[in-house]
Amino acid sequence: MKNAELVKRDLAVLWHPCSQMKDHDPELAESLAMIPIKSGAGVWLEDFEGKRYLDAISSWWVNLFGHSHPWINQAIKAQLDRLEHVMLGGLTHESALLLAEKLVEITPPGLDKCFYADNGSAAVEVALKMSFHYWRNSGQSQKTKFITLENSYHGETLGALAVGAVDLYKNTYAPLLMEVITVPGPDCFFRESGESWEAYSLRRFAEMEQVLAQHAESVCAVIIEPLVQCAGSMRMYHPIYLKLLRAACDKYQVHLIADEIAVGFGRTGTLFACEQAAISPDFMCLSKGLTGGYLPLSAVMTSNQIYAAFYDDYQNLSAFLHSHSYTGNALGCRAALATIELFQQQDVLAANRGLAAQMAQATAGFAEHPHIAEVRQTGMIVAIELIQDKAGRVAYPWQQRRGLQVYKYALQHGVLLRPLGNVIYFMPPYVINEEEIALMTEVAWQGIQLAVRD
Ligand SMILES: *Cc1c(COP(=O)(O)O)cnc(C)c1O
Repeated sequence: MKNAELVKRDLAVLWHPCSQMKDHDPELAESLAMIPIKSGAGVWLEDFEGKRYLDAISSWWVNLFGHSHPWINQAIKAQLDRLEHVMLGGLTHESALLLAEKLVEITPPGLDKCFYADNGSAAVEVALKMSFHYWRNSGQSQKTKFITLENSYHGETLGALAVGAVDLYKNTYAPLLMEVITVPGPDCFFRESGESWEAYSLRRFAEMEQVLAQHAESVCAVIIEPLVQCAGSMRMYHPIYLKLLRAACDKYQVHLIADEIAVGFGRTGTLFACEQAAISPDFMCLSKGLTGGYLPLSAVMTSNQIYAAFYDDYQNLSAFLHSHSYTGNALGCRAALATIELFQQQDVLAANRGLAAQMAQATAGFAEHPHIAEVRQTGMIVAIELIQDKAGRVAYPWQQRRGLQVYKYALQHGVLLRPLGNVIYFMPPYVINEEEIALMTEVAWQGIQLAVRD
């Protein structure tokens, strides 16, 4: 099939995620091309006519070691010839078991039980339900609320959407969502000039402490994205906030849910972002990079203590009766095992420190630009925030879709970016090399020039 035919047939039947489909209408002057992908290898994707695109965003943050990685490919093929899937109620299999053991081993101390789900949003739902249900089983059924941070994102299903706070995704559905307590966040974009990330994040904790002091009695858990609010424009903060939050959650008897769906598996420089604050949450949600970007799978890690509150005689009806048909899918678990093996075969985190330094170097001058508010970085995530008026801190109106112009320019020049509003970011697979970093950053720079020229 050729590109054009594929796109035409696609638009006739396929409704794409997170897209205004009218943007892709070929009749429109400003039409956005739909890019048909035939194959992928390493950081490169290729269409049906041989044009290549550097996947600078790891296909929505899922891919860790490049597309079509031989090690992960062979692991899935071997699994496929043995067992593709079996229900996990009453049955078990080797890959589900080995992966659970491995996750218990590599996640922060105290996370000793693993519950599987199918995707990130489902993992968030599981953590919310488990936290509520734990308190109920412990005789504290007055605990029904959740605390979340401004600008946070936890997925698209109704429970996950309710504990998120990105207006663009949430507002339309507001009448359908449970009420949550939203607390101003530690997002360092708003620090005073000259103020350090640490000082700002520390200062911002005061409001969280106050809300916990006031509402702890009715609160099940605080849910948080450790260190980087990814869907919320890649906004970043200092680990001190996590440290203080862990202590406060203990003090006020509230669970801490760490949503590491996007930041887990090395994105922030450590295997899990929580490690930078040396904390263990009560629940840790994992997905995206878990399978190296191959298959939908998620896991909720929690403690023996929480598990014990559900462990009882059947007649007491205290079990966690949550399931998904594909819970613990064998192919997904095997892909995850192979992915984690790659971390253990080479010192990936050390190599990433080199790549992160190269990305910092390649974008070092960007912040001088009159329409770039800042360039921020945490580990393998680099974000460039465009701004209309730098001195007055006035954002470009979202309606102007400046980031979209960078997206289009970059596609023409062989780089797949997918800006979040006015924020251009890089979150590449860990197999990117220096030359590819240079290309990715140079194309973004040229695209930015174009997008801000009037
Ligand atoms: C992507 C994401 C989710 C949702 O995961 P899906 O697999 O897309 O449902 C939840 N939380 C965070 C932090 C995410 O980045």
